[in-house]
Amino acid sequence: MPLASSIAKLNLEDDALTPGAQRSWWLREALHTEPGAECPPLQKNLNADVLIIGGGFTGLWTAHYLSSANPNLGIVVLEQDICGGGPSGRNGGFASGWWDELDSLVALYGPEGAVRACRAISQSISSIGEFCSSNGIDAWYRKAGYLYAATAPQHLQVCAGMVDTAREVGAPEEMSPLSAGDVRARCDSPAFRGGAFMRDGASVHPARLARGLRRVLLERGVTIHEGTRVERLGYGPPATAVTATGEVRAGQAVIAVNAWATGWPALSRRLVAWSSYIVLTAPAPELLDAIHWTGGELVSDLRTSVRYFRTTRDGRIAFGGGGGRAGTSIGESFTRDMRAVVEAAEGFRLLFPTFADIPIVDAWGGPIDVSPTHLPAVGSLRPNVHYALGYTGNGVAPSNLAGRVLADLVTGTDSDEVRLPMVNSPSRTFPPQPLRTLGAAVVRRAIIAKDTAEEQGRRPNALANAIARMPRRLGYMLGP
Ligand SMILES: Cc1cc2nc3c(=O)[nH]c(=O)nc-3n(C[C@H](O)[C@H](O)[C@H](O)COP(=O)(O)OP(=O)(O)OC[C@H]3O[C@@H](n4cnc5c(N)ncnc54)[C@H](O)[C@@H]3O)c2cc1C
Repeated sequence: MPLASSIAKLNLEDDALTPGAQRSWWLREALHTEPGAECPPLQKNLNADVLIIGGGFTGLWTAHYLSSANPNLGIVVLEQDICGGGPSGRNGGFASGWWDELDSLVALYGPEGAVRACRAISQSISSIGEFCSSNGIDAWYRKAGYLYAATAPQHLQVCAGMVDTAREVGAPEEMSPLSAGDVRARCDSPAFRGGAFMRDGASVHPARLARGLRRVLLERGVTIHEGTRVERLGYGPPATAVTATGEVRAGQAVIAVNAWATGWPALSRRLVAWSSYIVLTAPAPELLDAIHWTGGELVSDLRTSVRYFRTTRDGRIAFGGGGGRAGTSIGESFTRDMRAVVEAAEGFRLLFPTFADIPIVDAWGGPIDVSPTHLPAVGSLRPNVHYALGYTGNGVAPSNLAGRVLADLVTGTDSDEVRLPMVNSPSRTFPPQPLRTLGAAVVRRAIIAKDTAEEQGRRPNALANAIARMPRRLGYMLGP
């Protein structure tokens, strides 16, 4: 269907029609509430103890853990945009547990390692809430759990599998089965056929969290230069970040650039950059009441091309998902893709027909860093250069844990966190470009075709089915 007629049917209005022309609704709201102190671009050469490249959650949490352990450490954060200007300030705000990832975690690290990793993420979810309350950050933190809603018969098996695996590793309380009635009592959509509930999940206002972190770091004396792109990093030692307007030399460096690592030769084959888009409705609290979705639960379906949705404090629904596109570099397709907005909006209209008259008033996108294991990796490229990446669109809680690990790697501290199995674990890589992006695009389309057929009760096309399953056949932990 031509884009213009899709847009007319979907009741898209205002900023939803110009994705990428302005910052995400979250970030606009956070900047309006608290613009924060100026952090001008770097204008001279600096020396520091620790240099952090990237002012998203990973970089900011690393600076937080370092500065709270040692207030005298000289820490410099360099951010090409503004802190939270990347995905950290425009994601869905799902701070969610890893109990749904148990299958992969057990395959990679065994049951004991898998449970340790899940418990560490649970701790991170709580730590985010504690950090907000002890630092006066109103990031709309609400720990109400995560609802998985099956929209196809095949998804019920996935839910049963998640519940069984949690029981098998000795954590039955973490994942409970739900009937269709149970799911619809919490969030009523005619599409929901049953599901599962993971108690480990909190929603946050991601931009308020990122900007709050920035404020706390500035109060502690951490130096932040926004509008400062690192063009090159010499590993040294000392590590040297080269920018257009100055250099920063530091004993230790942390690369926290998420999907932009596609442009870093040492890391680029560890990820595929993929886009994800979110649409946001006008407030409609009375309709949320009518579908019983007042408990603040995070919700997603179980399509491989997942749709994820949540409510906001002012009674809106933020709904993410849809097609997404792969890209070799982080360009406009990650922020200005109207077709991806339409796909996300179509998902929303399908699942929530009672909201037909409520306009979608905003839409935005960003890059996610898909890793071969669907899980992030944290480690050191050199004794003095560390990194975290590969969150695969699920980095809100894991980036807090990564920050703790990175702080310990920087200071050489032996801790439970640095002994987690995903720290400095052997890395799998994707094929080189252009095969990586092309392959990702073909597989993604096949996955969507398969998901859609299953949801509509059709048999998936045999070719699409085979292509969708290809990544697993090749040893990647991605796809059905
Ligand atoms: C639309 C969308 C929805 C999402 N929803 C969720 C969700 O609900 N839950 C969840 O857990 N995860 C979600 N994610 C993923 C989540 O946002 C990320 O995993 C998380 O924010 C990663 O944090 P980060 O600090 O590593 O990366 P970023 O937030 O991307 O930060 C990296 C920063 O590095 C900067 N940078 C890059 N290169 C340079 C350079 N050369 N010099 C200086 N600075 C540089 C960038 O500008 C950026 O600000 C979503 C992502 C998107 C795009």
